[in-house]
Amino acid sequence: MNKAERYKRQTVLSEIGEAGQARINAASVLVIGAGGLGCPVLLYLAAAGVGHIGIVDFDSVDETNLQRQVLFKTSDIGTNKAQAAAAHLHALNPDIIIEDFPVELDSSNVEALFERFDLVIDGTDNFAAKFLINDAAVKTTTPFIYGSILGFDGQVSVFGTPDGPCYRCLFPDPPKGHVPNCAEAGVIGAVAGMIGTVQAMEAIKMIAPHESFQPLVGRLLTVDMHSMENRLLTLSKNPDCSVCSKNRDEITLEYTLPVCSIIPEIIPDQMQGSDALLIDVRERNEWDAGHIEGAEHMALSWLMAGNVPGLHKDQDIILYCQKGMRSLQAAQYLAGLGFSNLRNMAGGYEKWLKIN
Ligand SMILES: [Zn+2]
Repeated sequence: MNKAERYKRQTVLSEIGEAGQARINAASVLVIGAGGLGCPVLLYLAAAGVGHIGIVDFDSVDETNLQRQVLFKTSDIGTNKAQAAAAHLHALNPDIIIEDFPVELDSSNVEALFERFDLVIDGTDNFAAKFLINDAAVKTTTPFIYGSILGFDGQVSVFGTPDGPCYRCLFPDPPKGHVPNCAEAGVIGAVAGMIGTVQAMEAIKMIAPHESFQPLVGRLLTVDMHSMENRLLTLSKNPDCSVCSKNRDEITLEYTLPVCSIIPEIIPDQMQGSDALLIDVRERNEWDAGHIEGAEHMALSWLMAGNVPGLHKDQDIILYCQKGMRSLQAAQYLAGLGFSNLRNMAGGYEKWLKIN
């Protein structure tokens, strides 16, 4: 296939030209997460001819993904996302190298992965991963294009460049008590598509710079898709930032497992035929006054006194309390002990009573 012909519509732009195209073809980009953000990023970067693309995703395609993860077909259900994405992108552009990494990004593999690429794209949906990506990006001096969506809101920025701020300059620590955006949070595919597309554009600008390009370094783009109002907030580097103000070898990489939330409405379905354990972390008097049938009692105060439940670390656990905050704390405590399959019941027992 004639490469010049394939990329003609972009090389004809004076901002790109043959020189810009050569840079795009020589670039390597690692995309973390082949989900709602990662799919449009991957499609546009592969189509533009980014010469080496890595895809990290340990998850497999399920039916609920197809509404927004536009790389996947119904026939991909059950297959690993990184591998399925790589196959589709290879069909789109056989001239580029696509590597799939069907693993979960964690503190043991992140540096080795980042060191192999020029640029990283954050297509994740949880804070734990975003902080890990940030810290590793600063440590390995690999800039990353941050993207996030919540409901109809989206944000994009470029972090981890030598002179610009990092994600921790903006958010020093993971938000306390925040329940990450997991399977139950709603999203319209086009919202993810728009933010992912902006991330792909920022990647092109970083890879093939031109005097007219102003990548979102030190600026945060926010878009409210109810109204399409967008803002550009100026971000500055925090001189006391716990990550980017340090020497690279002083940066330690940590990863705490995110805790997903589960809505009470689907708990009976989720527990049917599974070995999921429902745990009530309220105090004894609250338990005695009423609890969900089939639950076990394990008070937060008992856990926080340093007690370790005698359960397998991979036991599927759903935690609840009165409103959902104490159970989140319990989930974070258990995650710290190495429990990996934790879900927090949003709204707690109060919500449960309303719907049952
Ligand atoms: Zn910083």
